[in-house]
Amino acid sequence: MKKHNFSAGPCILPKEVMQKAAEAVVELNGSGLSLIEISHRSKDFVDIMEKARSLALELLNLDGKGYKALFLQGGASMEFLMVAYNLLNKKAGYINTGTWSSKAVKEAKMFGEIVEVASSKDKNFNYIPKGYTVPEGLDYLHTTSNNTIFGTQIKEFPVTDAPLVCDMSSDIFSRQLDFSKFDLIYAGAQKNMGPAGTTLVVIKEDILGKVERQIPSMLDYSVHLSKGSMFNTPPVFPVYTSMLTMEWLKDLGGIPAIEEINEKKANLIYSEIELNPLFDGFAAKEDRSHMNATFSLTRDDLAETFNAMWKEAGINGLNGHRSVGGYRASMYNAMSLESVGTLVDVMSELERKA
Ligand code: PMP
Repeated sequence: MKKHNFSAGPCILPKEVMQKAAEAVVELNGSGLSLIEISHRSKDFVDIMEKARSLALELLNLDGKGYKALFLQGGASMEFLMVAYNLLNKKAGYINTGTWSSKAVKEAKMFGEIVEVASSKDKNFNYIPKGYTVPEGLDYLHTTSNNTIFGTQIKEFPVTDAPLVCDMSSDIFSRQLDFSKFDLIYAGAQKNMGPAGTTLVVIKEDILGKVERQIPSMLDYSVHLSKGSMFNTPPVFPVYTSMLTMEWLKDLGGIPAIEEINEKKANLIYSEIELNPLFDGFAAKEDRSHMNATFSLTRDDLAETFNAMWKEAGINGLNGHRSVGGYRASMYNAMSLESVGTLVDVMSELERKA
């Protein structure tokens, strides 16, 4: 039986995407060759890369607005340092909303002065800071749109004259935003796109070329752009699978259509967390993530029963991250409303039993 996979990432992907990806590993489009045995310079693969790059811009509504998309390697963690390597001359600002933002700060500090413009560390990152002033003269301002571990999500992004950078690893393609407000967006594939192994980077080209240092080729966005995201052998399977997921999303009606479903899923779980006295939400109400819902039991003595019940219902990956504890239900784009319904049924069944 296929499980209801609430895993935080790697995570659920659309079933038809996984089927098509598996078929392409055996044989790509009747070519007599596998996706993973053809040259990345062959027309077949160059077309796949170009399709993936253009679908990313199309879905984000950034076509013809001076942006280019890249599919790089090294995960989102590599972008923590590449962003600073390519954009930081003197001083950059960071909004610290969790573990991943903190890691981004740590890497960037090797390249210049980092101003922590706002932080929610004082309350174990259970909220998104608001009402702060962004200083002038920053080379860029870095934000994390969705905090995978703590289950918070930025609803309103800071206003700044500096280039706005955003780590959208855990909510890319999940909700409508004015993406043209951002100058650089990055996202590891392994949530809403595909298997781990590639990172989508969307860059407004005019922000590049402003740092004084020399940049090693593999870490230089301009080099990757000049080579059509093919400076070296790209991760062909993650790129192909990401392309399939983007096609799936486009056919579904794009971000507006998936946002509607994601809102229904989030409303379903958060209303249960609110109504059921056995559960407490971790994140501040107004900052709750529509991708990762974090919660805990109000009665420790029920943990064993609850754990057995959700496992029995075919639910996977519900344990919270060790820095928060409790539970985390990750409801990425490919998760159905029915799966969230299964979890909510288990939660209310626990209330009846207790
Ligand atoms: N940023 C966010 C928001 C994440 O959730 C993660 C982990 N999935 C990362 C960065 C790090 O990603 P990676 O493991 O691809 O380096």
